[in-house]
Amino acid sequence: MTSLHNRHINPLILAGLDGNNWHLADYVKRGGYEALRRILTEKIPPEQVIAELKASSLRGRGGAGFPTGLKWSFMPRQFPGQKYLVCNTDEGEPGTFKDRDIIRYNPHALIEGMTIGAYAMGISAGYNYIHGEIWAEYERFEQALEEARAAGFLGDGIMGSDFNFQLHAFHGYGAYICGEETALLESLEGKKGQPRFKPPFPASFGLYGKPTTINNTETFAAVPFIMRMGGEAYAALGKPNNGGTKIFSISGDVTKPGNYEVPLGTPFAKLLELAGGMRDGKKIKAVIPGGSSMPVLTGEVMMNTDMDYDSIAKAGSMLGSGAVIVMDETRCMVKSLLRLSYFYYEESCGQCTPCREGTGWLYRMVHRIEHGQGRADDLDMLNSIADNIQGRTICALGDAAAMPVRAFVKNFREEFEYHIEHKHCLVPAYV
Ligand code: SF4
Repeated sequence: MTSLHNRHINPLILAGLDGNNWHLADYVKRGGYEALRRILTEKIPPEQVIAELKASSLRGRGGAGFPTGLKWSFMPRQFPGQKYLVCNTDEGEPGTFKDRDIIRYNPHALIEGMTIGAYAMGISAGYNYIHGEIWAEYERFEQALEEARAAGFLGDGIMGSDFNFQLHAFHGYGAYICGEETALLESLEGKKGQPRFKPPFPASFGLYGKPTTINNTETFAAVPFIMRMGGEAYAALGKPNNGGTKIFSISGDVTKPGNYEVPLGTPFAKLLELAGGMRDGKKIKAVIPGGSSMPVLTGEVMMNTDMDYDSIAKAGSMLGSGAVIVMDETRCMVKSLLRLSYFYYEESCGQCTPCREGTGWLYRMVHRIEHGQGRADDLDMLNSIADNIQGRTICALGDAAAMPVRAFVKNFREEFEYHIEHKHCLVPAYV
């Protein structure tokens, strides 16, 4: 599926892309590698690069929303041994498909962003871990790396300076859990992709036990634009504490699903309009605003909410990776939750008991409600199991499995009760 189109508002990363202009020469024509050249030729101190990032209020675009400048400042600059920079392009969450478009259509923005990051943190080696199910994008990124190396934008003595940075692509194994940063590091080391206990955090004990900074693809790709326009100008594109633009992957019951880059703080209603509105003129019922692991909200709440970290949190969910799943009035909420709970049950790495056992319980209970065998106390039991998973596991997959269950039951309880009482769906299309 291609999701390239020109329906954006003040785009940066996706601006001016036509599907064929991903090569280095095209990127340079758009002003690419200017920021890196200026940093290296003017010998801008690394601290100044990080200060600019802090001024931009860029927050991690992979889901956590952690301030990027602050994260970069955690990297010990004077560490005597090897340090690593890692990009997480292992997007595998249902509804999320922005990072593959970045490496497909604008791979040099990511390469330049990572190279600036390596300079700012004094790192000489980096990897981009690419989800195992996307071959064409992996090959595209390898081609872009070759172009950058041949032009002297990567490798030893970048652009005639004394700065060296070796960047490699790594094709992952396709497991959702490898998107968790410590599982990703394990996988990159050639081991089974299972999350590590934290602390220690990757900033002190990361790849091969060395200090490592990991950021999402979109986060790195935003860096050249921030350096070109200045941190304050980037921040001003969005709202306070929610600077810049964000790529939203919109899927579900909309007329034009795809990736839309808009300033943070854009009203959801505007985003829906960009996506062509509801398909076939149907009414909006529910929206998952940040990827399938985030709590679902009613369409009514979303139509009065802005798309930024703080507004979505205030509405009762999380912006996450910006994967917006829109559901219309014909969608059965029990069936939708069944699909999601099966995903987390399947993808649990099995390392800790609440997640390994709890995701199976959640799935089997929603399955029996959907198939007319629900019991009167099932909804309380679902909430109780979710409570016993959340916050009690090694990584966030446990929370990711529990949060949707609680939100679906809370916001659409009458549909679940109807299923249990009448043994079939409330929504006419499913009766
Ligand atoms: Fe594995 Fe689930 Fe535990 Fe994460 S929470 S470590 S996925 S069992």
